[in-house]
Amino acid sequence: MSVLYAIGFNLQVLPDRLKSKVMTFGELSGYFEKLEETSSRLSLIDILVELFSHVETNEVAKVAYLIQGRVAPFYEPVEIGMAEKGVAKAVAQAYSVPLEEVAAEYGRVGDFGKVASRMSSKFKIQSSKLTVGEVFEELKKVAGTSGEGAVEKKLNLLVGLLKQVDPVSAKHLVRIPLGTTRLGIGDPTVLDAFAVAKLGDKKQRKVLEEAYNKTSDLGLIGETLWKEGLKGVEELDVEVGRPIRSELAERLPDPQTILQKFGGEAHAQYKYDGFRVQIHKNGDEVRLFSRNLEETTAMMPEIIAGALKQVKAATAIFDSEALAFNPESDEFLPFQETTKRRRKYNVDEVSKQIPLKSFVFDIMYLDGKPLIDLPLRERLRRLAEVISGDETLVPQPGEFTDSVKRVTELFNDALAKGLEGLLLKKPDSKYEAGARNFNWVKLKRHSAGELKDTIDCVILGYIFGRGKRASFGAGALLVGIYDKRKDEFVTVSKIGTGLSDEEWREIHARADKIKVDHKPPRVNSILEPSVWIKPEIVIEVLADEITKSPVHTAGKTDSEPGYALRFPRLVRFRGADRRAEDATTVKELLEMYKQQYKKT
Ligand code: ATP
Repeated sequence: MSVLYAIGFNLQVLPDRLKSKVMTFGELSGYFEKLEETSSRLSLIDILVELFSHVETNEVAKVAYLIQGRVAPFYEPVEIGMAEKGVAKAVAQAYSVPLEEVAAEYGRVGDFGKVASRMSSKFKIQSSKLTVGEVFEELKKVAGTSGEGAVEKKLNLLVGLLKQVDPVSAKHLVRIPLGTTRLGIGDPTVLDAFAVAKLGDKKQRKVLEEAYNKTSDLGLIGETLWKEGLKGVEELDVEVGRPIRSELAERLPDPQTILQKFGGEAHAQYKYDGFRVQIHKNGDEVRLFSRNLEETTAMMPEIIAGALKQVKAATAIFDSEALAFNPESDEFLPFQETTKRRRKYNVDEVSKQIPLKSFVFDIMYLDGKPLIDLPLRERLRRLAEVISGDETLVPQPGEFTDSVKRVTELFNDALAKGLEGLLLKKPDSKYEAGARNFNWVKLKRHSAGELKDTIDCVILGYIFGRGKRASFGAGALLVGIYDKRKDEFVTVSKIGTGLSDEEWREIHARADKIKVDHKPPRVNSILEPSVWIKPEIVIEVLADEITKSPVHTAGKTDSEPGYALRFPRLVRFRGADRRAEDATTVKELLEMYKQQYKKT
């Protein structure tokens, strides 16, 4: 019998925090503090493992979301979002200091976390007794508050929390509604930590990763693992309403190599250059998700209407690429026009001027059943049956072929139509959520003296330039790519040329918001830029060649040099549908290095 019970306490009526082992927000913030101080991935994992070894089943999901500054999985459009002004007011009210003083302090230190921490220290609250669960629920209320008086209500909720927490907690708390949580922990690192904390080592991590690729929800995986063990996680499956991590394509140089790789036959489809839309239909409700799993439902009313009208099934999930077209000439518009549709305001008006069509190339779920384990051939058969007509949703018939000549013809057709090229898919492959492998291979146009494909790089910092243009910060960008195996960003190039004054201004406006005073976690670099920024901005880069380089860390090992881009130039800023982890990976770069001298 519990001692408390023996002396007449009833555990049911005790507040959460007095029950054994419940984690307080103060304890969680202690871990945040340690995580913030380290930039080595190995120590990040050690700290996370210790953290997750101390959480209870009902806390693990909350902790997993809070680590990323959220109160819901990434794909749920739940934003705690408060403007800097609101947060400044909350700090001023909570600690009874004039707003001007908060603003002045912010001017000095440039981080509301530190401001809140300093101001709160006068209150001498030693440790935050609020539980993680309590803070989580309050933050959820902040996120759920909308309509009239919302600003005031959000502010009051934050004031209420700030008054009850110690300085370290205050620092990490205010960063959540501001979206400036700086822990820089990627999803793969959290999965590693789950595995070690709960299963003792990383041997079964693959199971967690597969579940993550199907559900996109770290919290769900954590909670299931804690509650039902590995078996429970194995049973997690695709569900309508929960985005699936997108399957991606590899590169090969020519039709012959591709057909050989596939064992003789391929399904050839046009490669459209728009943006990816995953369509979830659940009865009368349709939700859309971008390539990086953000909900984009509100941006594309015509696709919703199209899905409701054309899909002959109660529930279904499709993969598609949306493109803007000119309704008068019925011609497709260039990518720059299509991206104008990634907006939240005046959607109805813009959708009339630049309507979208979505080319549906896969189906992953139908009438209550996941289809991802069926061969492509079979999925395409279902796809053809389930969408009627081709008004807004245009099902892609594609073509099965075993002929190099036919693939070349189709490729040329695609280019003649102004498309990017082809996607060739292995006829018997499953839909491998989250994978980039040789089940899908892209064949794109290219010009002489250039690599066959562009590279998506993450800006890691910038280097001040000299001379006239330096007045607006022009110099060079230090850019990197993603090492998926190590979950870190490695440098691959400095880009100085090819940027207009306007682009430099844009970079500075965006970069200054996310600059940090030391190398961010998960960045592996030999070079030291003038200013480090958080790895968030993804740019598309074209280069002439990939060469070996001792100064860059991409692909570098103890005995071998790294790789670098020769004559890199900016093609465009990638939209919000690219997270830093969606940048080109080291593995892909090495493939491209090997292939660069082969001719198409
Ligand atoms: P790229 O920069 O070459 O467009 P990416 O990084 O966007 O590549 P990839 O995996 O290399 O992504 O290429 C696949 C992308 O092409 C998909 O994400 C999708 O947006 C788009 N796409 C266009 N048509 C198709 C199609 N028929 N099948 C699959 N993806 C298609």
